[in-house]
Amino acid sequence: MSIKVCKFGGTSMADGTIIRRAAEIVNADAERRYVVVSAPGKRFGGDVKVTDLLYRCHELASSGANFGEVFSRIRSRFEGMEKELEKDVGMGEALDEIGRNIRAGAGADYCASRGEYLAGRLMAAVLDVPFVDAEEIVRFAPDGSLDATTYALAASVLRKYPRAVIPGFYGRGADGKIRTFSRGGSDISGAVVARAVKAALYENWTDVSGFFACDPKIVPSPQCIRELSYQELRELSYMGANVLHSESIFPVRSAGIPIRICNTFRPSDEGTYIVASAKRRREENAVTGIAGKKDFTVIFLEKSMMNGEIGFAARVLGILSRYGVSFEHLPSGIDTMSVVIDNRYLSGGVLEKIVSDIREEVHPDSVRTHEDIALIATVGHGMANAIGTAARLFKALSEANINVIMIDQGSSELNIIVGVDNADCAACIRAIYREFFEGKGGTGS
Ligand code: ADP
Ligand code: ASP
Ligand code: MG
Repeated sequence: MSIKVCKFGGTSMADGTIIRRAAEIVNADAERRYVVVSAPGKRFGGDVKVTDLLYRCHELASSGANFGEVFSRIRSRFEGMEKELEKDVGMGEALDEIGRNIRAGAGADYCASRGEYLAGRLMAAVLDVPFVDAEEIVRFAPDGSLDATTYALAASVLRKYPRAVIPGFYGRGADGKIRTFSRGGSDISGAVVARAVKAALYENWTDVSGFFACDPKIVPSPQCIRELSYQELRELSYMGANVLHSESIFPVRSAGIPIRICNTFRPSDEGTYIVASAKRRREENAVTGIAGKKDFTVIFLEKSMMNGEIGFAARVLGILSRYGVSFEHLPSGIDTMSVVIDNRYLSGGVLEKIVSDIREEVHPDSVRTHEDIALIATVGHGMANAIGTAARLFKALSEANINVIMIDQGSSELNIIVGVDNADCAACIRAIYREFFEGKGGTGS
């Protein structure tokens, strides 16, 4: 019998009723043997995710402030769910211990991880299957990346359990302490478990019926992408389509395990399959999807004969690395070069220092910066063969009166990235969506 790994996100774990529904989904298919869970998410607009409450407790405790009020909100959520689910899994005692540890100075990662830990214990009780703690199977290297020994370790532990519930988001670091992935990282945990147990399918259960051609908060009810490739997923999720963590493909890609995005609230919807190569779409559509991310800065450099100056780019990048700054894109021409950087690297005067060092060390004819831009990626394998895709895209933007600050096309012709003002981000995505998915020559599925 083949194995399916199911990961349930925060909205699928938000209260007792939804947890029951998730358990019914698992029980409806005997192949769904390993279940990875997130911490309870928002139940309604304005609600706060348990993970955010836990980070807040840590913040308060580390500044010596009282975290009791915030902690009591976490307590009432878990104890409420325990009651609603009519299970006695010792939530009270577990929360007492977590509270003591936070007070005693536990790290941010430990605090944040407790939402998944408690949710995992609840889900294990509801399904009546063993709980396997993620700290027993997921290992982080000293630099915080996933340690490659994880797969063998997870396989050896999980082999002993025909079925199990595993909390997402965390594992154990090289120093023996709890460490987490970045936010949304339970998606990575699910992929890790899928690879370790050699699953035939990794089902990612969330609150939407698949991966849409763009963010449903920007375009209401966008088209659902039936199938996309790992590479398209990586490009779209990295650029802001946060339905799936952009790093969650790495564990499954090398093992060729498909991912299916499914809706816990509409389990019979087909969802989206993410596979090695999405042939059907490539033949039919030029554009697969669009995603955007705000808060980048571009440094534009101009220097005559830059192309003939050996080491020019290396010197510019050397300056960035001196400040511990990595770059996102590097579009260039004969006499021009632009460096696109995430704003989070540039606070506290770092941008000014980099610009001044560039002036001194590489002597450009001109250097200017454009802050607070959004990057919008239009992604699709079909773009390499479809003549005129870029022309259509830029015409759509000009008709929508959107000023394009920067353009970059990946060498694989899988994407076209444009930089626009932060304020134009949503309008830019809407204009591209309209052109390729609603327009006369619409190519959407
Ligand atoms: P979970 O709690 O299940 O991990 P997330 O909130 O992380 O769920 O991801 C699901 C959300 O991703 C959706 O509710 C949706 O608003 C958002 N989203 C952003 N871009 C897309 C997209 N292209 N397709 C589908 N959902 C998207
Ligand atoms: N609970 C964590 C977060 O809110 C991890 C996850 O949900 O995937 O980021
Ligand atoms: Mg998520």
